[in-house]
Amino acid sequence: MMKIKLSDVNNASGGRYEFVFDIPAGEFDFPADDYHIDGTIKVRGTAENTGVGYRFEGRIDCHRCFVCDHCLEEVAEDQVHAFDEIYKEDVSALQDANLFSGDSIDIADLVRDVVIAGQPISNVCKPDCKGLCPQCGVNLNKSECSCDRTVVDVRLAVLKKLLEKN
Ligand SMILES: [Zn+2]
Ligand SMILES: [Zn+2]
Repeated sequence: MMKIKLSDVNNASGGRYEFVFDIPAGEFDFPADDYHIDGTIKVRGTAENTGVGYRFEGRIDCHRCFVCDHCLEEVAEDQVHAFDEIYKEDVSALQDANLFSGDSIDIADLVRDVVIAGQPISNVCKPDCKGLCPQCGVNLNKSECSCDRTVVDVRLAVLKKLLEKN
């Protein structure tokens, strides 16, 4: 579904073949249960014949939706993922390259893997998300509440007393 004909790459002027794909995210089976990629996945890149293989370089633009682990708000964000991969036909010379055969290369699996690998481990709306008040449940990013959220910590309590004295 994202096939690039090798004859096009070989005949590209300047040796670099430019490709563009706009694919609905629904066509990929992302395994995620705590986020989802929606809208259109845009892939822009160049392919070149390096003599020992084909190099695919470019960027993937996608849109990710998730629920923040801390404040439970729905978040949508635009992401950009870069890729730079080599495809070779010779299994014995693969090393960390990808295998291909035939007269075209389908980069759909590459795109899928790059997007999955590019996802953060935790789903947080912003690095300093304040989360929800454990007492009343208000979203502390949006409003304040009057709950006493002082953490009961003996060391902190002692420090607080010392500070109050001064
Ligand atoms: Zn949040
Ligand atoms: Zn509260």
